Amino acid sequence: LSDRLSGVFESLTKRGSLSEKDVSAAMREVRRALLEADVALEVVRDFTERVKEKAIGQEVVKSVTPGQMVVKIVHDELVATLGSEAQTIDLNAPAPVPIMLVGLQGSGKTTTCAKIAKRLTDREKRKVLMASLDTQRPAAQEQLKILGEQAEVDTLPIVEGQSPTQIAKRAMEAARLGGYDVVMLDTAGRLHVDEALMAEMAEIRDISEPHETLLVADALTGQDAVHLAKSFDERVGISGIVLTRVDGDGRGGAALSMRAVTGKPIKLIGTGEKLDGLENFHPERIAGRILGMGDVVSLVERAAETIEAEQADRMAERMRKGAFDLDDLSTQLGQMQKLGGMSSVMGMLPGIGKMKKQIDSSGLDDSFIKRQRAIISSMTRHERRSPKVLNASRKKRIAAGSGTSVQEVNKLLKMHRQMADTMKKLGKNKGMLSQLMGGG
Ligand code: GDP
Ligand code: MG
Repeated sequence: LSDRLSGVFESLTKRGSLSEKDVSAAMREVRRALLEADVALEVVRDFTERVKEKAIGQEVVKSVTPGQMVVKIVHDELVATLGSEAQTIDLNAPAPVPIMLVGLQGSGKTTTCAKIAKRLTDREKRKVLMASLDTQRPAAQEQLKILGEQAEVDTLPIVEGQSPTQIAKRAMEAARLGGYDVVMLDTAGRLHVDEALMAEMAEIRDISEPHETLLVADALTGQDAVHLAKSFDERVGISGIVLTRVDGDGRGGAALSMRAVTGKPIKLIGTGEKLDGLENFHPERIAGRILGMGDVVSLVERAAETIEAEQADRMAERMRKGAFDLDDLSTQLGQMQKLGGMSSVMGMLPGIGKMKKQIDSSGLDDSFIKRQRAIISSMTRHERRSPKVLNASRKKRIAAGSGTSVQEVNKLLKMHRQMADTMKKLGKNKGMLSQLMGGG
């Protein structure tokens, strides 16, 4: 993709910001890359529309090409859509915590069940019981038993002739009596999503009331991913997704499709047949893979570094002049958001201690930053440059526009005033300011 994109952009003159024509040309290539990676058509359409809107009019930073700029915007949006926070299995419920695995035949449920059980046993010291509810495939229950022996995890004794729901009841009972922390239910799949499968899964769900219901899907799942994820989520209700065979050739477009249509997090990935082939999900890696360019991540990182360095320079200069306006604050907040949480970087900024306390106590982080930025983006350019024009009626309009309150708008303005004051004072001491801005 990067080659094709640079081709598209060779013909471009640098005009300062990305035009609709530039972006449309790039998006045709992005769409092709996504389709090649097996992202479902409807998801591709939504995604490229969204990126297009974001990209048009964006300023092209001096030292990167428009092509790199678009790639970065696409990549960032992909990572954001895939989910930026690390996800884990949630065991926060009364023991035994039921975890149910669902999915099509051959998607990797049984293997994944044993992998997760092993991880919970070895790393988290939980006492785990596994039960196979697969009465469809011959020897399916023996398969889990063998994996249990390998993983050194208990399995529910096999009783011939029982239905899936009978096994589910027995598993729940055995887990309670045996003092297990976690009970894992490995279910049967079918070749396709059908009514019998959904009815069976819904019945098992009602009996076991799983705390986690994980949809296990092959990284090679193509256009089917949307229907698959939607059906399971609507009929059974899923709490997360496990993408298997990420060690294979699949580009993993299904991850984007399933995430986009269900909004459910991808919690883990399967990276091999062996029981240790289970890893946490890193959106950047899958994003790079979906875009199909090995160098995209480093490309993007380089672009991001350049952009940040330029922004930092510009900001340091403005602070020196005592001209830190609300646009600058919004840029700062955006960077914090990218750096992964405010708490880690808050201490680095002057005049922000109070806000940090407030955020720590509310535990909000990301959504807090988003709200602050929403407030700022509901202001006119003039208001952002000269916040002193903000009277009561303007504040009311901004609060309504950003879905916040006048009180919150006032808080933000106060925080900005305090920061600007502190920075002005610091600005007089050049050395200190450079330090603060990372040598800018
Ligand atoms: P189920 O029908 O959904 O229970 O699927 P299984 O767990 O029986 O897996 C079907 C096949 O896929 C088996 O041969 C597994 O070894 C293999 N498999 C499962 N997960 C992975 C994975 O992450 N990577 C690879 N390479 N193979 C896997
Ligand atoms: Mg199985």
